[in-house]
Amino acid sequence: MVDAPAGVERDYPLTRLTTIRTGGAAEFFARPGTVAQLERLLRWAADSGLEVGVDGSGSNLRVADAGVRGLVLKMDDELTAIEIDGLAGDRIACGGGARLPAVAAAAARAGLSGIEFGVSIPGTVGGAIRMNANAYGGALADVLDWVDVVSAEGTERRAPDELGFGYRRSNLTAGEIVARARFRLHPADEGAVKATLAELRDRRLRAQPTGIRTFGSTFKNPDDPRAEGRTAGQLLDAAGCRGLRVGGAAFSEKHANFVENVEAATTADVVALMVAGRERVRERFGIELEPEVRTLGPVELPAEWRHE
Ligand SMILES: Cc1cc2nc3c(=O)[nH]c(=O)nc-3n(C[C@H](O)[C@H](O)[C@H](O)COP(=O)(O)OP(=O)(O)OC[C@H]3O[C@@H](n4cnc5c(N)ncnc54)[C@H](O)[C@@H]3O)c2cc1C
Repeated sequence: MVDAPAGVERDYPLTRLTTIRTGGAAEFFARPGTVAQLERLLRWAADSGLEVGVDGSGSNLRVADAGVRGLVLKMDDELTAIEIDGLAGDRIACGGGARLPAVAAAAARAGLSGIEFGVSIPGTVGGAIRMNANAYGGALADVLDWVDVVSAEGTERRAPDELGFGYRRSNLTAGEIVARARFRLHPADEGAVKATLAELRDRRLRAQPTGIRTFGSTFKNPDDPRAEGRTAGQLLDAAGCRGLRVGGAAFSEKHANFVENVEAATTADVVALMVAGRERVRERFGIELEPEVRTLGPVELPAEWRHE
């Protein structure tokens, strides 16, 4: 293997870098702070035959209990920065590791509207672009100007229509990393934008459990006529999954589509619970729920989820 660049750590525990707090360690781990550092790390991984994974805020991640072979990256320094940009002062440029709630707050302070929905999504810009995250009718694709994607081949600027956005998906592959992105917003009254942020925060507090270890929505809302417009959470609830527990993991009492790490759960517990919930929904409604959450490392998944 080629010598590792400075800053690469071995056997780095990832549990605390996920919001559900499960999973093992990364074989190699690094926190690139600049595009140049990121490019160097990706070239090293390619030359050494290592797979690459990224942890944003880990708010939509299941990490394998046995750990992750290869290199796991977490953006740092310049790659988490947020700055008002563009001649008209109506753009916000961010590192891929900038947190969306912080981007929404910075936009509000600058009197810019368009990304208020980001206050509800506890992930990074890169994770949100990879997942095509959205909330309360706001969608990233509508406000995205461009994205700098870094891979072992170098850096490429892509427009939103080159990112293959669909429901909770993009065409970014594992070795393609969002290093920077720019949002195109519009000027608005600062007080009004801040009031919208407060209202969205309130709506979330009423609708979802807080202070628990979870990765948010576990399954996508089904596009199936038999659901009759019901969300994945409503179907899980009707199938008796609210509070259902496997090992240390349980479907939340407050929101049936949230898996909660209630007591020293493992990723295997989380997957077994998801399988049980999905089974109940299939038996009751004939609907196959599709997982929204992603994996890092060799997580044992049912065959029909392997396309993840
Ligand atoms: C309480 C709670 C509420 C939530 N509410 C919402 C919601 O309203 N709407 C919604 O859409 N989601 C929601 N989520 C899910 C999650 O926050 C989003 O999917 C978010 O976009 C994930 O971002 P992340 O940085 O945490 O990504 P991670 O979970 O760390 O990673 C997710 C995927 O993105 C990849 N990735 C991460 N960073 C990068 C990068 N820089 N470049 C390329 N790939 C990258 C990872 O490798 C992985 O495949 C919620 C989660 C929680 C815990």
